[in-house]
Amino acid sequence: MKRSKYKNLLFLASFFLMTSLAAAINLQEKAKENRLSIYLCDNQRYLSLRAVLRLIGAQDSWGRIQDRIFFLYRGKEIALGLGSTTAIIAGKSFPMEYPPRQIEGEILVPLNDFEKILNTVEAGVGPSVSTPELPRKETASPAAGQTGPSPVNTRPFVIFIDAGHGGKDHGAVGNFGLKEKDVNLDVAKRLRHYLQTKLKRYPEIKIVMSREQDVFLSLEERVQRAREVKADIFFCVHTNSSRWNRLDADGFETFYPRSKEEISILPAAVDGEGREEETQADSIVLQIVRDLNETSVLDESRILAEFVQERLAQRLNCPDRGAKARNFYVLKYTPMVSILTEIGFICNPNIEANLRDVEVRQAIGETLAEAILDYLRRKNLILND
Ligand SMILES: [Zn+2]
Repeated sequence: MKRSKYKNLLFLASFFLMTSLAAAINLQEKAKENRLSIYLCDNQRYLSLRAVLRLIGAQDSWGRIQDRIFFLYRGKEIALGLGSTTAIIAGKSFPMEYPPRQIEGEILVPLNDFEKILNTVEAGVGPSVSTPELPRKETASPAAGQTGPSPVNTRPFVIFIDAGHGGKDHGAVGNFGLKEKDVNLDVAKRLRHYLQTKLKRYPEIKIVMSREQDVFLSLEERVQRAREVKADIFFCVHTNSSRWNRLDADGFETFYPRSKEEISILPAAVDGEGREEETQADSIVLQIVRDLNETSVLDESRILAEFVQERLAQRLNCPDRGAKARNFYVLKYTPMVSILTEIGFICNPNIEANLRDVEVRQAIGETLAEAILDYLRRKNLILND
């Protein structure tokens, strides 16, 4: 993640608060409005930490080391301990009534205490940032006049759509001659077209294709292009074939990376540019955030893969083979959120016939686009409508 984006995220968080939360934060109300699950532990109301960080726009700033959890809110570092009733806000202890807990892998935070923590930060930040109606001139993008939840985000959000195979690489070939490369490209184009129509109001969201014609691209070139355009999402479309070209192979599946190679996040923050004033403590926090960002990219990839599976399951009448972790080259070496979806088995003659049908391809393209829209909504990049 670039430093500018990081700053934007912080600014977005405060923008969100200014517009939606007003002076004091009523977390229970916000949780209700946003349909967050409320958990009861020892008769206390708890929220999922992930959900609540998303709610306050801090989802990209958090990290964890063993039982310690860190995140940035309004530029202040907040540390919580699992099972501990002491929080640290910008280096100062803050007593909590109930401790954060971990239940079945999910970190839960006590609603009342968490609300107090946020309000303490708000009070400390003071009125200097509470100018709700006026977007800041220096950060306002050309899109600032438009309605939308991210008018202050100056960097475009880039969705990179990669149609698998192409040119001399046909991919899988059906019994009746349908080539995977052609299906992938056609579906990818339909996906792009539908997404463009749906994202008209969001000029800051860009869509880039790895290829628009029947040309060969190596895997390295695909990854390289996604990096060059600073893609935020790498979305790869493929058509399946079973190992022995089984005629009855059926279903759709989506892969996300198990791990990432060469992750870069907050590079500018540690490259020294304009950060000479950075203290030792800051560096450690940034390091922690950086080390743990890989987890967040993997989690986000899994979430996107699950959206894809969910949407395909609603639309297609064939088996849901699930979202699975797999280190395909393009998933492992792309630093951004990445998934690879296999939309159907071309080795199955029935599916091959279906994939020849323009209407089926259109439906699949739209369905994949809807999954991306689900993800953008979850990131508060587009409005619910
Ligand atoms: Zn393929």
